[in-house]
Amino acid sequence: MIQKAFKRSLLFLIFLITGPSFISPASFLGEPFLRRKIALTFDDGPRPLATRRLQQILKRFGARGTFFVVGQVAASNPEVVRSLVKGGHEIANHTWSHSDLKKMSPASLSDELEGTRLLIEELTGRNSYLFRTPGSTEKFIRLHFTVPPKYTLILWDVHSLDHEGLSPLEIAQRVELMAKDGDIILMHNGKQNTAQALEILIPSLRSRGFEFTTLSEILQYRQKHLTSAIDPAVLRG
Ligand SMILES: [Zn+2]
Repeated sequence: MIQKAFKRSLLFLIFLITGPSFISPASFLGEPFLRRKIALTFDDGPRPLATRRLQQILKRFGARGTFFVVGQVAASNPEVVRSLVKGGHEIANHTWSHSDLKKMSPASLSDELEGTRLLIEELTGRNSYLFRTPGSTEKFIRLHFTVPPKYTLILWDVHSLDHEGLSPLEIAQRVELMAKDGDIILMHNGKQNTAQALEILIPSLRSRGFEFTTLSEILQYRQKHLTSAIDPAVLRG
């Protein structure tokens, strides 16, 4: 009884200090957590400093993420890729050169994807056909893009807009507001604000019962729980 009262006072104190986003009413009242899953995905790495910073934050919170790596950047930073996999994160394909998709022929896109896929396999021992196109809008992809055979293009449910100059708090609040169970969140590797936003976002979403898992796991989870037969964030070749 005393322990329970102490726990409540402590939670109330944290609530006063951090504001309502840190603790949900459910956790404040001691109700059992609802388990929900979310996939944080990071485009454009791996970079020695920026990626390690993200990795440290994810590790601190016991969260796993997925990194869409650019082949030629990964080739220069193989130890960063290996360290991500060792830390329980997933590696996916973000083309070899990160060139403008609108100017790329289908043949050169296939070459870029294959080159990156083989490099990822060599570095991690894992073969993945999951990819995300660089710098293209969802509208362009849906209207004009054909996914190469065997590959699966991963879009997103929530775009964090972390590369559009939002502050860490704005990024965190935007994602927090939009995130639902099973969502894929698009973030970027190499933006200072992304790392700071994660430090706000992860504890806040966790207090609402979210756990942070890899893309492959979230895809299985979505298949199981989606009401429609077509996954809106997934385009298959
Ligand atoms: Zn990109």
